[in-house]
Amino acid sequence: MVKIMAVNAGSSSLKFKLFEMPSEKVICSGLVGRISHDDAEFKFVADKKNIKKTLPVKDHANAVQLVLDTILNEKIISSLDEIQGVGHRIVQGGKYFNDAVIFDDYAEQKIEELISLAPLHNGPHLVGYRAFKKVLPQVKNVAVFDTSYHQTMEPQDYMYPVPYEWYEKYDVRRYGAHGTSHNFLAIEGAKYLAKNENKIICCHLGSGASITAIKDGKCVATSMGLTPLGGIMMGTRCGDIDPSIVTYVCEKSKITPSEMFEILNKKSGFMGYTGFDDSREVIDAMNNGNEHAKLANDLWVRRICDFIGQYYVRLGGVDLIIFSAGIGENSGYLRQRIIDELTPSLGVKVDPSQINVSTEKLISTPDSKIKVAIIPTNEELMIARDTVRILKL
Ligand code: ADP
Repeated sequence: MVKIMAVNAGSSSLKFKLFEMPSEKVICSGLVGRISHDDAEFKFVADKKNIKKTLPVKDHANAVQLVLDTILNEKIISSLDEIQGVGHRIVQGGKYFNDAVIFDDYAEQKIEELISLAPLHNGPHLVGYRAFKKVLPQVKNVAVFDTSYHQTMEPQDYMYPVPYEWYEKYDVRRYGAHGTSHNFLAIEGAKYLAKNENKIICCHLGSGASITAIKDGKCVATSMGLTPLGGIMMGTRCGDIDPSIVTYVCEKSKITPSEMFEILNKKSGFMGYTGFDDSREVIDAMNNGNEHAKLANDLWVRRICDFIGQYYVRLGGVDLIIFSAGIGENSGYLRQRIIDELTPSLGVKVDPSQINVSTEKLISTPDSKIKVAIIPTNEELMIARDTVRILKL
């Protein structure tokens, strides 16, 4: 039995979950938010313990210290030596990593080099890693990449039809994202299928959203691209658009490429049509007669179904469609809209009494041509599993 910490460090936050492995029991979890502020927030949940505090937290190392002190003070563990590995979520591993790795100098250097491909994520991940290294120097760290699951794609699936030298000089290609989630969901989803050979379309539909085509457990295609801006429409991101929109609107409205990048990342998707990025608010607005909100939902559903159709062909059929993440796990309305659009061509049928469930469940009817399951994602557990595997614990 070992204890593993799974960490997701952002620019001003540090989320953590401590697992007991191999039982996969969560011992405690929480987050430190607004790091570097005098009124940083600290949330800590353990069996029969629920702490919420506002306090000054200077930097990520202080945040790590706060988490570990609390774990000791609350007697969750008796010594820090019980933590035998720390797994870190890393958004961008580029072409260098097709699996999780021990977080050594090489990994650190490559993750640093890749900051320009994931400016909001890779930098903060490194800060989180360095904080753990400082506070727990004796414990081994593992880097678990969102991109590595997608490294099994063929060149036809990951290359873009742009000058080839962009690939050679700048590594321009599709890397995808949410790979840790898609990997977890492919493993869980396979349990609903009788055979080892299987074809799954996995819909991770959160604020950020991506769809992956999976054959026999391996990714063959994924919707996100060079960065998480590509693919389907999202809460604030546009997904795939005609690239000429970028230069056309830059010229017309006299904005710079970086302002345009900001708009496509933060002010597009649901946000661009309604002013809301939360799908619940968009649905409420639609129900109150807001035409833009109605169109936003129509657009969102259509983009998803277009990808499902594309991946049905790419896989040569589908055994299982998985819905996961905030919207996929919780929005019966949007799931129903997707199913309604798939039924005429793909024969997908869902039990109407099951469409609103939010727990893991097979919701398709026995006569559906494709099974449909809701599976809550668990990226932290996948990180803990990878950490145990890589450290051979
Ligand atoms: P991310 O991790 O990318 O921030 P999440 O997976 O947390 O995203 O998903 C956030 C989305 O999930 C929001 O659009 C939110 O509206 C939606 N969501 C969360 N809970 C519900 C719910 N009960 N019903 C409908 N949508 C929900």
